Amino acid sequence: MSTSVPTTMPVASSFAELALPRGIERAIADLGFETPSAIQARAIPSLLDGRDIVGVAQTGTGKTAAFGLPLLAAVDPDLRAVQAVVLTPTRELAMQVAEAISTFAAHLPGVDVVAVYGGSPFLPQQRALQRGAQVVVGTPGRVIDHLERRTLVLDEVRYLVLDEADEMLRMGFAEEVEKVLERAPEQRQVALFSATMPPAIRRVAEQHLTDPVEITVARQSSTVTTVQQTYAVVPFRHKVGALTRVLAVSDADAAIVFVRTRGAAEEVGSALVEKGISAAYISGDVAQGEREKIVERLRSGALDVLVATDVAARGLDVERIGLVVNFDVPREPETYVHRIGRTGRAGREGTALSFVTPNEQGRLRQIERTTRTTLEQIQIPSPAEVSAHRVQKLFSRAPERIEKGRLDLYREAVAVHLAQNPGTDSVDLLAAVAALAVGDEGPAPRDAEDLDDALQRARLAPERGAVREHGSYDRPERGERRRTNTHIAGGPARWRVAVGHRDGVQPGALVGALTGEGGLTGKDVGKIDIFASFSLVDIPGGLSPDALDRLSRTRVAGRPLRIRVDSGPRGDGPRTEGPRHQHGASRPTHGPARNR
Ligand code: AMP
Repeated sequence: MSTSVPTTMPVASSFAELALPRGIERAIADLGFETPSAIQARAIPSLLDGRDIVGVAQTGTGKTAAFGLPLLAAVDPDLRAVQAVVLTPTRELAMQVAEAISTFAAHLPGVDVVAVYGGSPFLPQQRALQRGAQVVVGTPGRVIDHLERRTLVLDEVRYLVLDEADEMLRMGFAEEVEKVLERAPEQRQVALFSATMPPAIRRVAEQHLTDPVEITVARQSSTVTTVQQTYAVVPFRHKVGALTRVLAVSDADAAIVFVRTRGAAEEVGSALVEKGISAAYISGDVAQGEREKIVERLRSGALDVLVATDVAARGLDVERIGLVVNFDVPREPETYVHRIGRTGRAGREGTALSFVTPNEQGRLRQIERTTRTTLEQIQIPSPAEVSAHRVQKLFSRAPERIEKGRLDLYREAVAVHLAQNPGTDSVDLLAAVAALAVGDEGPAPRDAEDLDDALQRARLAPERGAVREHGSYDRPERGERRRTNTHIAGGPARWRVAVGHRDGVQPGALVGALTGEGGLTGKDVGKIDIFASFSLVDIPGGLSPDALDRLSRTRVAGRPLRIRVDSGPRGDGPRTEGPRHQHGASRPTHGPARNR
């Protein structure tokens, strides 16, 4: 492979020097990139100059922009045909790169980016291609599938990128990569990026690249040493609960919680807000301006917890972040390094905590091997530890409050209360007030049963409808739409939720949760009776396991719904109260013994 001496090639010290199209410069400014990274400073001028390049660079060096910006500069927005193809080894990387390039193209009207990868339906990808997307980011296998179906045509391609080429070969994609290179027009530019340069990659470069400029940049210096790395084993469905407890006892000024998908960002962010935590979420769906505002609030202290996807949090540099939680353990060890680098900034101490489900522990080992560190296992704090922490914090504020004075009103209230309740011990009174102040309502009522129980009941319900014995759906007939989000005809009809008027719940909130999270329509929800600590809801069509699962993570009036099939009054205490609110026409069929 003939290689130019890097110093003979231009090296840019500012983005302005690169003279990128105006729209791209605006996107860079929006992202807050101030100076080009080493790989960008050297790769962008060469690529803009029409040269092929071989970049030896890892994730975290800014390589996506190094090839993405010149790629976009080469795209003709008026030509509705594929002009650039980026091959990546994994679907995650394809998604990330596509999202990054879309962000870089935010001010380039008419430029569309599509990600194509296996394991997801063909049709939406095919439609995006038919609509004239100019940039395709995909995994080699799926790109070949599209080529073979002629849903992807390479005739107008003038720009090819092989990202993480060594990984692609290691994963056995050599043949597919070769095929794409062979089928693309000869008049094209190729940028090959690889973390390592084994002979197989050199051969690809020699065979398919023309006089490439070779650029090697060192791995970015890591901040990892100032970060204490920990993990906890948490079953999937307990993650939000575990996160809340972790945040409750954390001493960090601010925390960032990484999740894998946009949906999870919204879900986790909203769950934290409902629990009264100063939190917000950002994902690729949140507009750039809004994202910036949120990050600014995090920086200023107006916000303490940010839930984010990897792409949305790229380049985020906020000193206050003392804790990074990997709510979803990242698939790529590089992503892990990247995520935990968001804490321990500016020489501060930071902690990283990764949640792993019991069967994800292999991934943890992979991270340990790649980062050459051992993660320390920690236990999720128990509710008692959370309460102890909160009460300790509460009491730590007391001396200052006493100092401030003007407590007569409260002293008198204490005296009156003790006088009216002669049996009450003053320490008990203080303890009860402390418990209430930290939100400890005492032992949970017996009706606070678990999701497992609800699922079990749904499975064992006499009329199973479309649910098979093992609980999955029967395959829909041809042409019949699969209804995973809706109810099952003939399923259990009466459901019990663990929120009642004591929690301030209104029928509208319940209907909202059932139609929003549960995917039902208003018509699916029948009568609602709201009691003191629980409510009964008629859902004549029953609930699918899918809907149940989502509802199990739903909160109404700040409390978990804990939805389960109602089995009528049992040993869990008489229903001595009538419902205050009803939705629907008929009278209660069981339950309330008397109305107040
Ligand atoms: P990459 O190596 O492409 O995965 O990029 C690593 C991270 O650096 C991403 O979060 C980018 O958004 C960010 N980044 C890339 N280029 C720059 C730059 N010139 N200035 C600041 N951040 C950058």
